[in-house]
Amino acid sequence: MSATPAGLNTLPYADGDFFAFEQLLTQKEQDRLAEIRDFLAREVKPIAVDCWNRGEFPMDLIPKLAEIDLISPVRRQGHSNLFAGLVHAELTRADASIATFLGVHDGLFTGSIEALASQEQKDAWLPDIYAMKKIGAFGLTEPLGGSDVAGGTRTTARRDGDSWILNGEKRWIGNATFSDWVVIYARDLDDNKVKGFLVDTSLPGYSATKIENKISLRTVQNADITLTNVVVPDFFKLAHANSFRDVNKVLKVTRLGVAWQAVGQQLAAFDVARSYAVERQQFGRPLASFQLVQSQLVSILGNAVSSMGMMVRLSQLEDAGQAKDEQSALAKAFTTERMRDSVAIGRNILGGNGIVTDYGMAKIFADAEAIYSYEGTHEINTLVTGRAVTGISAIV
Ligand SMILES: Cc1cc2nc3c(=O)[nH]c(=O)nc-3n(C[C@H](O)[C@H](O)[C@H](O)COP(=O)(O)OP(=O)(O)OC[C@H]3O[C@@H](n4cnc5c(N)ncnc54)[C@H](O)[C@@H]3O)c2cc1C
Repeated sequence: MSATPAGLNTLPYADGDFFAFEQLLTQKEQDRLAEIRDFLAREVKPIAVDCWNRGEFPMDLIPKLAEIDLISPVRRQGHSNLFAGLVHAELTRADASIATFLGVHDGLFTGSIEALASQEQKDAWLPDIYAMKKIGAFGLTEPLGGSDVAGGTRTTARRDGDSWILNGEKRWIGNATFSDWVVIYARDLDDNKVKGFLVDTSLPGYSATKIENKISLRTVQNADITLTNVVVPDFFKLAHANSFRDVNKVLKVTRLGVAWQAVGQQLAAFDVARSYAVERQQFGRPLASFQLVQSQLVSILGNAVSSMGMMVRLSQLEDAGQAKDEQSALAKAFTTERMRDSVAIGRNILGGNGIVTDYGMAKIFADAEAIYSYEGTHEINTLVTGRAVTGISAIV
């Protein structure tokens, strides 16, 4: 007997967690994850496609996100990295754009402050950041510096008495059209090292322009930033951000988050494709009754679950303080490669309806492209891993 769409969610494995990884969480974490899932089903999923189509960020969601209290689950709330990862996957499953908004505000921006600010700076800034009264962005990439930004940061910082003068351009900076603050990474003209600065976006000389016409993560507001003689008081120079090695401490953790996003994106494709295959009839039978269609659904599931397995172990290593840069790099490269395969299969299962956003899958398919490229492209993460296993760098 075939399942009806109404009965789909009562089938075993309906959540896609085929090997019950969630059981590795404490009971408290499992309950909290369920609470967050309910929130996402109520507040995020219903608005996701409409925001994406319009290319607008739902500003009225921010107080609701603040209330559910998602920021800094590991450092502040004491949860495991596994919990943080599964939450990030669920956020992505609901909407990759909202997950990216949080990935920027929490992982990249808050992560920069938590890892690289002094205690005095943290005490001054973090309460408003955790409460989402101040929204942040992370400015590293530049128009001429993408994959090579580590050695190629062109934005400059010049010490001038009790202040720093920043000049340059940044590209792709998420949240920056409306954020209160942005951490800008700039090269110190004195010692040629990359340093970090908390820049108030209302300062004279700072401007951010929305990047239009994106085909991916359309709800995320990415900006081109220009800094023209922006004067930043010395207190706003991140005390421990003194070289690109320091920036990498932030990126190692956020790369792990993006790999979890690739898990969530595949689960999203699985959700939509599975219900469509059960509901849609061709030749007088549900698509799911055809062996070739079942085979495709199982391919998505296998991709998602193998990605999840890798991420569960990496998160455990991170919890033990043992995760290495190259392990995050392989995880990001592998899971996003599987993700691209999964969303393409999912799109195919929906036939023509897979290319219109009304059915959900087209957005999932398109959003995967940005996830594939940001936080280190597939090639760069492959080369970081290749360097680790051969001892030879092929990056430059
Ligand atoms: C939606 C979105 C959001 C983003 N948000 C932010 C943000 O908030 N803050 C921020 O700072 N940045 C952000 N980025 C920037 C992102 O991190 C960069 O796009 C990424 O690092 C790649 O840089 P690039 O786009 O300049 O590509 P390029 O570096 O120009 O690369 C182009 C192609 O060449 C390949 N390539 C480059 N060098 C090599 C090599 N040595 N060997 C083999 N292949 C190579 C790349 O893999 C890629 O396929 C965002 C990007 C996107 C798309």
